[in-house]
Amino acid sequence: MERRTFAIISHPDAGKTTLTESLLQAAGAVHEAGEVKARGDRRRARSDWMKIEQQRGISVTSSVMTFQRSNILFNLLDTPGHQDFSEDTYRTLTAVDCAIMVIDAAKGIEPQTRKLFEVCRLRNVPIITFINKVDREGLSPFALLDEIAEVLQLDVSPQNWPTGIGGLFHGLYDLRRAQFLVADRSDGVVPGRCIETSGVDDPAITEIIPAPAADSLREDGGLAQASYPAFDLNAFRQGDLTPVIFGSALRGFGVKQLLAVLADDGPPPQAQPAKPAPVAPDEQRLTGFVFKVQANMDPNHRDRVAFVRICSGKLQRGMKVLNTRHGKPMALHNPITFFARDRELAHGAVAGDIVGIPNHGTLRVGDTLTERGDVTFTGLPDFAPEILRRVRLGDPIKVKQMRRGLSDLAEEGVIRLFKPAIGSHWIVGVIGELQLDVLQTRLDQEYGVSLDFEPSPYEVARWVRSDDPALLKKLIETHRSSMADDQDNVPVLLMRNAWEFGRFQQDWPEINFSAVRERN
Ligand code: GDP
Repeated sequence: MERRTFAIISHPDAGKTTLTESLLQAAGAVHEAGEVKARGDRRRARSDWMKIEQQRGISVTSSVMTFQRSNILFNLLDTPGHQDFSEDTYRTLTAVDCAIMVIDAAKGIEPQTRKLFEVCRLRNVPIITFINKVDREGLSPFALLDEIAEVLQLDVSPQNWPTGIGGLFHGLYDLRRAQFLVADRSDGVVPGRCIETSGVDDPAITEIIPAPAADSLREDGGLAQASYPAFDLNAFRQGDLTPVIFGSALRGFGVKQLLAVLADDGPPPQAQPAKPAPVAPDEQRLTGFVFKVQANMDPNHRDRVAFVRICSGKLQRGMKVLNTRHGKPMALHNPITFFARDRELAHGAVAGDIVGIPNHGTLRVGDTLTERGDVTFTGLPDFAPEILRRVRLGDPIKVKQMRRGLSDLAEEGVIRLFKPAIGSHWIVGVIGELQLDVLQTRLDQEYGVSLDFEPSPYEVARWVRSDDPALLKKLIETHRSSMADDQDNVPVLLMRNAWEFGRFQQDWPEINFSAVRERN
């Protein structure tokens, strides 16, 4: 069976959650539209995926959903929408072959859309654009397409055309198949008949929708066909062109077409960057990398699940693989897949699939698991935190639990943890404030530790490296009050501010101070 491994990226509120539901429904993985009940307490602090799960009353947190349609297995990876979790998102995007970019038709490209797009571009991930909410007032389709082309420097190829966006929505014209999907307005706005036409100027359209709407479809649809490039598979696969689908996730317009583009044109599993050379999906031996670790997914089992993207080979239950970080073997006894809403035991996962490997802390983000001893996947960085806080413990008796919780969450990649060379107060580093909320909540719920944060004297953290071990040692020994170890005991320089850091850098020109730490 073929695979399509993808993520949905969007600015908060553009409709990612709704589109996820709608895609699952279009693929037959969810049966009733009413299964999603909006809840009052939509907490963004947790991942959007949890939001869906809360709404559906599912207790198991997963970050992957797998569903099948005809002969294709789709693996949908969740990415948190909020920018405070951008690092998590970045890592997740290393594990996909394709992304759907959701844009709100009334807002166009928003800051987070753009950032996430840039991440995709770094890895040449092909993008399918879904312009959502065409059932209500929005910008003109031309303005939206031109904005995407200009701001993102991409060729845009509209696949369908909405009638009456900005006024009364009458339906979608499929530019590729010359079909018109009528918006049935008799009882709310729902997809109605789909009629075959000979083109945008087919008189049959005028019989169904009001004349002014048919006129504008004829004019604008015709203009769109003439002005924008036709779909080009190679340009799309190389990340130079994005097919654009107008639709409404909420009302089910354009979603089937989106699924069809993903199925027909979306890339199959691609070769993944690795040392000494990229690994092609047809390599016989099993290879994969951990892009995410989540602790305590099941409240009844205090285990951790490492999410592994399979890059080649076939996973068999019980097989032995090497973790190339330390060269130790590991048996894959209970790998799990995520079929629709259930966790299932994985059997025969292949390139493009995501499996969860339960473990007790042996697996970390960036680890390579393989039957080959000579390969390590690359390109999973840690970013230097922008916010540094000292942790203060509510109940001093719980130091041990606190340290364990902080270490676990640091390994999961939720926070950075710095242990200063002098003093016993650990420092946590995060990219966004919300991560501190999550840290606090999780330590409380999962480790029974109540924690507060105090300002720390530092604003800048940099990993310190040098090819000259004697020089590195000298730096560390002469500046112990500014040094700390991260969770993997890699030395880190902590500075009060950018100015102080600048001076320090000048004093140590042969030392490399890095804001990014490649895990491999
Ligand atoms: P997310 O933050 O990107 O996951 O966005 P949600 O899926 O939670 O949607 C944000 C809001 O937009 C919700 O109130 C949705 O009901 C609404 N919404 C999503 N899709 C559509 C659509 O196609 N049409 C309209 N009118 N509203 C939509």
